[in-house]
Amino acid sequence: MRLLLFGAPGVGKGTQAKLLSSKFNIPHISTGDILRQAVKDETELGKKAQEIMSRGDLVPDDVMIGIIKYRLHKNDCQSGFIIDGFPRTTNQAVELDKLLQEMNITDIKLINIFADEEEIVHRLNSRRACKVCGNIFTLAEIENSDHCPNCNARESFYLRDDDKQEVVRKRLDIFRKSTEPVLKYYEKQGKVISINGLGSVDEVNFELLKILLN
Ligand SMILES: [Zn+2]
Repeated sequence: MRLLLFGAPGVGKGTQAKLLSSKFNIPHISTGDILRQAVKDETELGKKAQEIMSRGDLVPDDVMIGIIKYRLHKNDCQSGFIIDGFPRTTNQAVELDKLLQEMNITDIKLINIFADEEEIVHRLNSRRACKVCGNIFTLAEIENSDHCPNCNARESFYLRDDDKQEVVRKRLDIFRKSTEPVLKYYEKQGKVISINGLGSVDEVNFELLKILLN
């Protein structure tokens, strides 16, 4: 199974990608995770990406394509993969098509998870990350605790820059303007499956599996 997971920031696609990854035993390739790890490791890519991402802007196409190409050539991608967060521009989609053609891959599907924008702003603005382990929690999950449920670090919760309301709105704006053409690009090829992301994680996953296993 080879999937592109598509949707606005905060629509829950990362969570669904992880569930599908373990269900089908294929790697979850998150360009966001790759970039955040690079930032943490302070690699050259990380330093470049950090400045761009903290503004809420998109990382340039050539950098993103380089990351994807490197990752798809690893052995664990041979029987399938889920790409989450890429392509974000039509140019990236065209470049990805070229890459997949080179690799003789023709069975790609795009899962489009959609949701209301105000709901997304609310969702992201009310989650917190742990600055020690990087896990993300909803405010409800950590309401009465002063330590991270994942790594036990104390007072380690913070609102990520890219979850702040004004940055989220900017990301949604950028998403709408530059990424929606990508959806149209794949729609023309008849490769899009759309699903409402507003339900619970389990509900959305159930609907997704129903479609994918059909
Ligand atoms: Zn933690």
